[in-house]
Amino acid sequence: MKVYLDNAATTQIDPLVLEEMMPYLTEFYGNPSSIHSYGRKAKSAIEKARKIVAKYLNASSSEVFFTGCGTEASNMIIKGAVRDLGVQRIISSEIEHHCVLHSVQAMERTGVQVDFVNLDSEGHVDYAHLEELLKSSSSKTLVSLMHANNEIGTLLNVERVSDLCSKYNALFHSDTVQTIGYYPLDVQKIKIHFLSGSAHKFHGPKGVGFVYINSETPVKPLLDGGSQERNMRAGTENVFSIVGLGKALELALEKMDENRAYLSDLKAYMVAQLMAHIPELKFNGDRSEAGSNYKVLSVSMPPNEKAELTLFNLDIAGIAASGGSACTSGSEKGSHVLEGIKADAQRKAVRFSFSKYNTKEEIDYVVATLAKIFANAGEKVGTV
Ligand code: PLP
Repeated sequence: MKVYLDNAATTQIDPLVLEEMMPYLTEFYGNPSSIHSYGRKAKSAIEKARKIVAKYLNASSSEVFFTGCGTEASNMIIKGAVRDLGVQRIISSEIEHHCVLHSVQAMERTGVQVDFVNLDSEGHVDYAHLEELLKSSSSKTLVSLMHANNEIGTLLNVERVSDLCSKYNALFHSDTVQTIGYYPLDVQKIKIHFLSGSAHKFHGPKGVGFVYINSETPVKPLLDGGSQERNMRAGTENVFSIVGLGKALELALEKMDENRAYLSDLKAYMVAQLMAHIPELKFNGDRSEAGSNYKVLSVSMPPNEKAELTLFNLDIAGIAASGGSACTSGSEKGSHVLEGIKADAQRKAVRFSFSKYNTKEEIDYVVATLAKIFANAGEKVGTV
């Protein structure tokens, strides 16, 4: 049996998405900048996709720009906010995705003040500390906090952060790569200046993302070149992928409630089965339905000699998941997220992440495989 439970890393392309994309790889190959019929066909497909993203966010189409990936979107915002909007201070967290963390650190090297907000052991932002940091800000500040953590699933209260940012006149960016297509986001209701998204996380193709930039806070492009994307992202557009992004988001929006109910049930089922069969394991991040992304489940394995090879043994059994552990002094570099929440460094963590294509039968197989791996492994060892 083959089971794919690594949907936070990437998802299977939906066949309907592929079907929508194919003509733009074959028949409709025009360059969207060309004014003839081939070009116009490609251009109108891009604009259709843009409208879908804008509708999802309740934004204006003129505030949505396609990028090569989610990483590019976050780089564009963080670096652009410093370069073009006078940002001299960034407040972020230590458990952001590296595309944010490394961009923030790059800005710090240029002299920008960087502060990390305190987190609790489940990865929640300490909102009182965030307010303290904002209150003490005398320079233009950007807050960059992710909507859902990709390793442990803990959700940010975007509304609360948005209110704080408004109160202290700070800019707000959220890396929404793990939540676009899964949670609704209305930029008219929640004041948020910048968002990043990536198609391959919601059953679209890889290598295409988007950035939402509020019209009141425009930044300049990262790339110099042609006038594509209304001068915001030079380079001939990745037309078939943009078409795929639009279709994938349209499908995600259509089936959001249904998918959410299905995946929440699958996750709860896996939690119950794991607790019943391997009671020694622990869960990382927020466990509540309201506080955690319903597609992500981070599990710390029992602290014994079998744990180190969990991912390898799962892979042998045909099961795909992701791993990580907190860093112990002197050991190889661990997960910065697990370290950031001070997860038990003696335990190896495995992230299972779900999609609409997974089934309870697959979960049963995964739990049975894990139970087999940990059978008779009572002996405690040191660092894993
Ligand atoms: N942000 C988060 C939270 C992610 O999980 C990822 C993907 O792993 C990214 C950003 C980067 O997205 P992309 O792969 O499109 O560059």
